[in-house]
Amino acid sequence: MALDDHLTLPQPLSDRLHGAYGELFACIERGYLAKRPVTLRVNRLKTTPERVINELHAQGIGVQTVAWYEDALIAENVREAALQRLPMYERGEVYLQSLSSMLPPILLQPAAGENILDMTAAPGGKTTELFALSGGKALITACERDAVRFDRLRFNLSRQGATRVNALKTDALALDDFLRFDKILLDAPCTGTGTISADEGVRFSEGYLEKCVRLQRKLFEKAFRLLKKGGVLLYSTCSVLPEENGGILETAQRLGATQLPVQLPSEIALLPSPEGTACVCPSALYEGFFLSMFTK
Ligand code: SAM
Repeated sequence: MALDDHLTLPQPLSDRLHGAYGELFACIERGYLAKRPVTLRVNRLKTTPERVINELHAQGIGVQTVAWYEDALIAENVREAALQRLPMYERGEVYLQSLSSMLPPILLQPAAGENILDMTAAPGGKTTELFALSGGKALITACERDAVRFDRLRFNLSRQGATRVNALKTDALALDDFLRFDKILLDAPCTGTGTISADEGVRFSEGYLEKCVRLQRKLFEKAFRLLKKGGVLLYSTCSVLPEENGGILETAQRLGATQLPVQLPSEIALLPSPEGTACVCPSALYEGFFLSMFTK
């Protein structure tokens, strides 16, 4: 289905979105076509939002702040590549990250001394955010099975000064079942249907969706096994498809997980999703994103 000159959704995806959201499909469509500004997260371990704002202003770059997160900044009228050339970027004082993807670490509230697992971590935006939010004092294990993406993760950890992160190039499904963590982030591999934009081609097929769903269920089961009693598991995707999102509740219920409510700032527009979960609607500022939380 053609949305405009630049974006054509594969028919099966368009059918699924219509089926799941009806009239709200138009909002998703507007979100896909919106040109989102570059957003960045200030690395508190190295600098402060004030210093970053001053430096950006000195470069002639306008900045907006974000009400729900002091460390999030919206850069105006500038491309990613230009920001990546700035010394503050090279020094790891900022990380280019979508606003939606800053949400899971905030909800997990990482604290000093906690043992935290980031199961599917590369390129490391959320790992480095978890580390920074803990003041550099959480003990984080970050897994990534893809070799190229693992190198990127290691590079980002080093640049961001995330020193106490134990990066493992491994399939998270192969982690020792005797390990236990206080908190686990499962930012699951998914179809990416929340992040579709007019700039990039859309890759989607029913087979790909099925493959993602199967892997998500397996990873969730593993995550729940590795969670301490009373620990918190956050499951997120950058998809807006119910099969990859609310669909996980069936697995959670089967395993006896207790759901914890996800509450997002009211300024973030949501799509319908099962009670206690949140599905961010793609928009001019946010990528589509799903969040759910559980305890054991
Ligand atoms: N959390 C990351 C961030 O914020 O930068 C993004 C993670 S991305 C959505 C999912 C990642 O999971 C991909 O890098 C993929 O290679 C990795 N992955 C997929 N299956 C995996 C597995 N079984 N074990 C470990 N990593 C896996």
